[in-house]
Amino acid sequence: MTSASARAAFPFPPVGPRRHDPAAVAAVAQALAPLAAEGLRLVANPEERRRLSRDAYDYSPVLTARLAAAEAELVVRPVTVEQVKAVAAACARHHVPITMRGAGTGNYGQAVPLLGGVLLTMTGLQAVRSATADRFTAEAGCRLVAVDEALAPHGAEQRLLPSTYRTATIGGFVAGGSGGIGSVGWGFLRDPGNVLGMEIVTVEPQPRRHQLMGDAAVPLNHAYGTNGIIVALTMPTAPLRRWQELLVAAPSLDHGLALADQLCTAALPIKELSLYDQQITAMVRPLRGGVAAIGGCRLIAVVAAEAMETVKEALAQHSGQLLLQRPQTVVGSLRELTWNHTTLHARAADPAWTYLQFLLPPEPAAALQALSRHQGDGLAWHLEAVRSQGEARWAALPLLRWQGADALAEAMETAQDLGCTLFNPHVITVEDGGLGVVDADQVQAKQAYDPAGLLNPGKLRGWLERGASA
Ligand SMILES: Cc1cc2nc3c(=O)[nH]c(=O)nc-3n(C[C@H](O)[C@H](O)[C@H](O)COP(=O)(O)OP(=O)(O)OC[C@H]3O[C@@H](n4cnc5c(N)ncnc54)[C@H](O)[C@@H]3O)c2cc1C
Repeated sequence: MTSASARAAFPFPPVGPRRHDPAAVAAVAQALAPLAAEGLRLVANPEERRRLSRDAYDYSPVLTARLAAAEAELVVRPVTVEQVKAVAAACARHHVPITMRGAGTGNYGQAVPLLGGVLLTMTGLQAVRSATADRFTAEAGCRLVAVDEALAPHGAEQRLLPSTYRTATIGGFVAGGSGGIGSVGWGFLRDPGNVLGMEIVTVEPQPRRHQLMGDAAVPLNHAYGTNGIIVALTMPTAPLRRWQELLVAAPSLDHGLALADQLCTAALPIKELSLYDQQITAMVRPLRGGVAAIGGCRLIAVVAAEAMETVKEALAQHSGQLLLQRPQTVVGSLRELTWNHTTLHARAADPAWTYLQFLLPPEPAAALQALSRHQGDGLAWHLEAVRSQGEARWAALPLLRWQGADALAEAMETAQDLGCTLFNPHVITVEDGGLGVVDADQVQAKQAYDPAGLLNPGKLRGWLERGASA
């Protein structure tokens, strides 16, 4: 029996399979079939279709139970913007829902087709259209690692990356992600200036192509592909540096926090700073740095090579021990231990863990202590240093032992009571995973670019509520 607070925290029913009209989907497939000769792919194989209808929502037992049956009836992979327009036109004419997909690494079921219909996978649009020292324009299906390859000859790199850098697409990152590596200095994707513009295609019988620059692009940033098909993005860059990855042991979480605070306030270029408590260090083998005998916490830092002297002074002052220092690489990077990769590794060691996401209050000590007391060893701390609205803050992605939906809802309530800003990773709508409020601009953008409400149905609460009150 689920409590009222769990029902309020996770306000959606399980999704049934194939809830859309198969005849209309067949008509879409027929309309698109001639484009196969020009590279568009229609995925007929049921196993592949099922695999592509999922994303990485299995971190959440709540989502896993409710989304497992959802499945697209047709998967389409276009390779040009003109083909994207053809898919949008066919779906609009036959009133078939479209769910957008990049690499499918989202954690909240964002790319899961709740009503079946067409899954539009964008990995075929992979051109970097332009790259300079200051900015780049890349097609939405371009992998983030490929964008950096194009920027490197210009002495530049991307400002923000998810830890899924090697697999995720830039369109999926902007539509479904929030920040990650780089957030310690550059904040989050939705902060003004981190996305300069986007090119979109509308979902209508005669689709239009729009360039949205500056503020006009904001409503589509982190909207889960509910209010426009993003076909290309223009974003600013950061200077490419000789980044060094560090793995550091600290005797306790308090020592680690003091050391991290000193690194964050020092005048040094820093790209990533994360902190892991003793329980996580014990669970995630690579965090031990090959030195199992050294217990305590771990920090991962990515700093510019010229900052190493300052870093070593800070380590000496806070009993930090440098276990590993090496240049940052693409493959085998410590990056793949940070952000939601930590959760991935911990769950590989013990799938009974799930997680939470929140911003700690500006003075985090009291909330950290109270939550530790409340949850006992059913909670393990993973913290990420971030810049939020211009201030240095701690984002928390703690592991939480799964003890049912009621216990999860209670842990979230406790965090909120302690002044934490919750970003619930166990829900499916843009709003419920964010600050809980409807953004009228996102709903208006859907009205303008997807007037029939076909894009990713069920994921924009503001649109559903508008429908109910109309
Ligand atoms: C191990 C792991 C670590 C992660 N670390 C991070 C992290 O550090 N930071 C972070 O922010 N996230 C993180 N995530 C979540 C996810 O990887 C990122 O958000 C990622 O950038 C999503 O990219 P994708 O190509 O896989 O998008 P998908 O998962 O395919 O799609 C994400 C959302 O965007 C929509 N979408 C995709 N393409 C388009 C398009 N062209 N137009 C409109 N809508 C579109 C989809 O419908 C969906 O709603 C992590 C996930 C995992 C599994």
